[in-house]
Amino acid sequence: MSSEHTKLIIGIDDTDSREGMCTTYLCALLRDDLSSFVQVISEPILVRLNPTIPYKTRGNASVALFLECRDSQKVIDLVIDTVASMACLDGENTNPGVVFVIEEQFGNVKNKLSSFFRRAVKDVITIDEAKELSSELDLKFRAFKNGRGLIGALSACGAMLDPDWDHTYEYLAYREKEVWGTKREVEELSLFEADRQTYPDTWDTVDHVNNITVCVPHSGDPVLYGIRGKDISSVEKAASFVISEPVERMCIYRTNQGTDMHLIHVSGISEIKEMHSYILEGEVFSEPATIRGGHTIFSLKDSAGNLIDCAAFEPTKNFRELVRKLIPGDRIVVYGSVTENTLNIEKIKLLELVKAYEIRNPLCPSCGKRMKSAGSGQGYRCKKCGTRSEFTENKELKRDVLPGFYEVPPCARRHLAKQLLRFENDDLPIYPGR
Ligand SMILES: [Zn+2]
Repeated sequence: MSSEHTKLIIGIDDTDSREGMCTTYLCALLRDDLSSFVQVISEPILVRLNPTIPYKTRGNASVALFLECRDSQKVIDLVIDTVASMACLDGENTNPGVVFVIEEQFGNVKNKLSSFFRRAVKDVITIDEAKELSSELDLKFRAFKNGRGLIGALSACGAMLDPDWDHTYEYLAYREKEVWGTKREVEELSLFEADRQTYPDTWDTVDHVNNITVCVPHSGDPVLYGIRGKDISSVEKAASFVISEPVERMCIYRTNQGTDMHLIHVSGISEIKEMHSYILEGEVFSEPATIRGGHTIFSLKDSAGNLIDCAAFEPTKNFRELVRKLIPGDRIVVYGSVTENTLNIEKIKLLELVKAYEIRNPLCPSCGKRMKSAGSGQGYRCKKCGTRSEFTENKELKRDVLPGFYEVPPCARRHLAKQLLRFENDDLPIYPGR
């Protein structure tokens, strides 16, 4: 029996179902249970993976813990037992995965796990690939059911081993078990006060434009609320203003939320693939149209002349009003995910707006009356004096929109989407969806 301490990274994913549980809660519970006999080294990591993956309905999150312990096998057994007993294994789409990386492996696996993490945020990865990598790197792991959770568990370990990615923090408060599934008691005004006291160091707590709170979920899981922000002290400060039902436990995570880590720069539409997320520049090709369900859609043309549909869906609320002001010829950059051949806009840069004209029949150059069309392709004719003209009257209209960088409101934010307030030195004016 050795008394030497060893460091251990534990990655966990996919323990929740639509009905209950939450992988972050399991992580907080393990951290608290383990802390009596291990040293927790840093705050846990919460990573969001490719948001277009359809298997998960609630945000594609996975977690990692970093700790130092005397008996790693004891910790590994306890973690596997906890996941086996608490994960929603009955859930049709719940396929937990747990991965362990021990200190002596850190150097060997760091690069491969880190690039796996970065790919899992942008790309579509198969379960087989995750299983192969776990074996190749000789990692201890446990895959339940089809083992899809291995993808997130490996990614979270990669994120923990790699300090070099943009990050934010989230303070998650959890409910007492007896009340799971019931209505959450959180005073709305206290959330607005938390926002007032800490914005812009925290964000997406409330949505001012749509006058709703954003940080309190509605599902049956154990999360009471989540405060997002730039550092630990800011999210703690915001949480101190929240008045709510009793908090059973809380945990602060380092996360890739709000970083745009999912986005890939492309120079043209021919490079775009389904289930990936992009930054794409082009020209508005068709007039934005609002279809059934309240979704606003237009087509965008790239420099090669290819077209793609871009959409501001109904949940983006007031953001659609901005999109409806675009006209063909406007030069823009769109940020968002592509599914079903449509780019779902998260942010938009309006680079150059074309002039808009109202085209009218001309006034008669002789008598000043408004002329009539003389028939298709025949120009215009004055009914009063018979003068003919070929020229229309183009009246320049004022564009009710300015070049700048715009985002969807907090109530429609994707987890990974970087808030405009997090951009520095952007060359365009910034219009946060606040
Ligand atoms: Zn006339």
